[in-house]
Amino acid sequence: MSEKIVEKTRGLVKADFSFWVGLFMDKFYEGFEQKKILANKCHKCGMVFVPPRKICGKCRVKLPLDENWMELGDKGTLINYTRTPYKVTDRRGRKARSLNDIGMVKIDGSDTAIIYPLLDFEKDEIKIGMEVKIKWIDEPKGGPSDIEGFVKV
Ligand SMILES: [Zn+2]
Repeated sequence: MSEKIVEKTRGLVKADFSFWVGLFMDKFYEGFEQKKILANKCHKCGMVFVPPRKICGKCRVKLPLDENWMELGDKGTLINYTRTPYKVTDRRGRKARSLNDIGMVKIDGSDTAIIYPLLDFEKDEIKIGMEVKIKWIDEPKGGPSDIEGFVKV
């Protein structure tokens, strides 16, 4: 195979790729395979992170990969939400679809939130501060799509 160095090109480059999410997120998504929410806790200030972090968001200390992990439940509190016709993953198309509710949920025991669709809620049922529960897909594969969204408790 001959190699050619391209210094300049015009037009679009299409590349299909996957990227590595890092050791902390790896561990987090491995937990998803067993329908488990794994959090890590800062040894200095006690903040609990879902998703886990490498550096504490509050006191900036580096968190060790092999310490202070905890398993949390599948319930949490809705701290914010939005109703939108756009898909979160559709960043360019902006094709309006039917309305979806997207919620920001703090899993019980955690100090941070994750964002997933709110499933099967009527508009006037959604209240900030309400308790919600994770709905897992039937056969988790160890990735972000293992959580389908949040449902009523
Ligand atoms: Zn900290």
